[in-house]
Amino acid sequence: MERTDIIILGGGLVGLTLAIALDAHGVSSAVIDPADPADLIAQGFDGRVSAVASASGKMLDAIGVGARLAGKGCPIDAIEVGEGARGVLGFRPDPDDGALGVMVENRELRIALHATAEAAKDLHLYPRSRAAKVERDSAGVRVTLEDGRTLAGALLVAAEGRNSPTREAAGITVARWQYDHVAVITTIAHEKPHGNTAFELFFPAGPFAMLPMNPDAEGRSRSALVWTVSRKDAAGLVGLSDRGFLAEAEKRMGAILGRLLAATPRSSYPLGFHHAARITGERLALVGDAAHGIHPIAGQGLNLGFRDAAALAEVLVDGVRLGLDPGDAQLLARYETWRSLDTATVAITTDALTHVFGVPGRTASTIRRLGMSMIDRIGPLRDRFMAEARAKAARCPSCCRASPCDVRPFVLISSLRHCEPGESRGKQSSRSAGGSLALDCFVPRLSPASSQ
Ligand SMILES: Cc1cc2nc3c(=O)[nH]c(=O)nc-3n(C[C@H](O)[C@H](O)[C@H](O)COP(=O)(O)OP(=O)(O)OC[C@H]3O[C@@H](n4cnc5c(N)ncnc54)[C@H](O)[C@@H]3O)c2cc1C
Repeated sequence: MERTDIIILGGGLVGLTLAIALDAHGVSSAVIDPADPADLIAQGFDGRVSAVASASGKMLDAIGVGARLAGKGCPIDAIEVGEGARGVLGFRPDPDDGALGVMVENRELRIALHATAEAAKDLHLYPRSRAAKVERDSAGVRVTLEDGRTLAGALLVAAEGRNSPTREAAGITVARWQYDHVAVITTIAHEKPHGNTAFELFFPAGPFAMLPMNPDAEGRSRSALVWTVSRKDAAGLVGLSDRGFLAEAEKRMGAILGRLLAATPRSSYPLGFHHAARITGERLALVGDAAHGIHPIAGQGLNLGFRDAAALAEVLVDGVRLGLDPGDAQLLARYETWRSLDTATVAITTDALTHVFGVPGRTASTIRRLGMSMIDRIGPLRDRFMAEARAKAARCPSCCRASPCDVRPFVLISSLRHCEPGESRGKQSSRSAGGSLALDCFVPRLSPASSQ
């Protein structure tokens, strides 16, 4: 039987990120995934390009993945939001504040994550493998693979994406609905440079987003298109000839990027919403799309998953340094509390946006334009929107906030004691001569009921 601290089911973008973050801090993991890594990084497997918010980028830097992505992403320096092709709202931060995020091809993210994972010391990959039997109890977690190999650990993490079988087996209730939306995605070369600007144009049928990418092999300006259409129109749009497709897209874009020159093969994703009622159980934690799935209208799904991974890694690393069992109910309660507000806020806001921009008619359009121009004029509101785009508004794990050298030794816990009811929970910190941060932690005593 092979033993690691954590067993992760699912080696997608979020599962691998978690495993790498744990390895960077000496916590071992096994990552089990039925997919073949060669398929996952093959051209055409996943043609999506993700908006990686600046906070997520800092986390990827801190765990050593960022260096492998150097030069691969296109910075997003500004966002233009429009009702149709008429720009109404522009977000352009001070150049000193840096880019809002970076557009990175999912394929490049997968290549960087796999290379980092393969080089990691305490990370054991089980590709082309599936769990045949999973047992969780007070003694630990045991997984039997279909080929008969057995693994043991202290905590099971489900990172299996939106149809997580582990979440279902744990009986976790999920709020779920389908939108009448399908996202058609492709990459388009265009005549005018994008100026590192992301264009998000709202039409009654759904949003049409052109997101900046690095130039193609022929040096032409390129953007990633995420075109949301109603379900009944999706097949027709995907099946159009290249010429017909570009002509339709050009009608939506107006003259913003000039002539649209060429498109890569298209693919389509039916869109839905789901949110797990809880993200922990006995020796179990959910991360990424296994925990929540949202409309890609604001490019936040993967960023939420990255923050899950960073928060869970921070909680577990803190716990292990204190000598706690990684499956300890107190640690899982801390993860659950930490992530609940962020994921619920982003999910509700994103769902509201899809409805607000989907209401047809002139009156609705006037109200939307009025609302957007108010945001444009009120400084604090604009700042708040930019903080959301950077993913800075949420309470981010320390590795999404600090520079890498601040993060490496997360913290040095110098003492831990339980606080009594009414005593304020919190931390006192002091910086040691070596620069690491020493913390005295006051951890609330959990009642047996709240530790479930
Ligand atoms: C069109 C579109 C555009 C998007 N754009 C953005 C964007 O710009 N920015 C952003 O932040 N987000 C974006 N998202 C959301 C983002 O893509 C997802 O949130 C993200 O990919 C979720 O990653 P994950 O690792 O949780 O799940 P997945 O990527 O689904 O990975 C799950 C992994 O688990 C494995 N698996 C499945 N079943 C099992 C099993 N039984 N046992 C073990 N392993 C299993 C799979 O093989 C896979 O490797 C977009 C989504 C869509 C649809």
